Amino acid sequence: MKINHNRPTVAVHKFTSCDGCQLAILNLGEALLTLTELVEIKQFAEAGILDEHATVDIAFIEGSISTPREMAQVKKIREQSHYLIAMGACATSGGIQALRNMSDGQAWIDAIYASPQHIESLTTSTPLSDHVRIDLELWGCPVSSHQITATVRALLFGVLPKIEHDKVCMACKRSQAVCVMVSRGEPCMGPVTNTGCGALCPQFGRGCYACYGPAENPNPNALASRFEGLGMSASEISRNFLFINNNAPVFQTIGQKYSERRDE
Ligand code: SF4
Ligand code: SF4
Repeated sequence: MKINHNRPTVAVHKFTSCDGCQLAILNLGEALLTLTELVEIKQFAEAGILDEHATVDIAFIEGSISTPREMAQVKKIREQSHYLIAMGACATSGGIQALRNMSDGQAWIDAIYASPQHIESLTTSTPLSDHVRIDLELWGCPVSSHQITATVRALLFGVLPKIEHDKVCMACKRSQAVCVMVSRGEPCMGPVTNTGCGALCPQFGRGCYACYGPAENPNPNALASRFEGLGMSASEISRNFLFINNNAPVFQTIGQKYSERRDE
């Protein structure tokens, strides 16, 4: 399949997710109007455009794979799309709902629902890349509107966009944000988190909670030791790593290590 560079077709699909990443597209405002002149949107349920079987040049998928239907659907979308882009933490790492992977999912379903036999759910929540080949991953919870426009713009030129791999700390320094950990002793996941958000949270005086996922070459052990130095308990440290991107291996390993420790 060849991409139509004159006016590429685009689909936005949703799997298990909160719709926040689709809202990041809707929040483009005026830029969305320009976007619709440059591309033809075939499927985007949040915007009321429906043709989920359309063959397209660029498909964005929000959400993780957590039902048998999604498992089959992602393979179909892969066949129908020239570029397939995982959009947001759910699609890139399984999302907050991947916490079920560390527990007995079926026991939860049995305990919560009066008629669990009607629930068609997998016992795991996994990223798209566990199931099909992905051309690009946009991390973040949610992704930023800028990531979407930068991606479409690059693809209009026939290339994939350049993804930043610095840590959030580097973005903090560049934006002259004051380090919340050094100045106020607040825990911050910036030293192990990929940037791309421009250090959004520290700029507003709060610690990063790692929504953009693990950075390249992170040192989670050193950060966990620093958290201990701040007086955090083992369970608090564990929860910092086992949060939105709990299924990312580097976060999962250290998060589980601390969850197995007893609080003193
Ligand atoms: S990545 Fe975050 S904002 Fe996007 S759909 Fe998942 S939970 Fe919602
Ligand atoms: S600072 Fe951290 S939590 Fe905040 S938007 Fe950036 S990556 Fe996400």
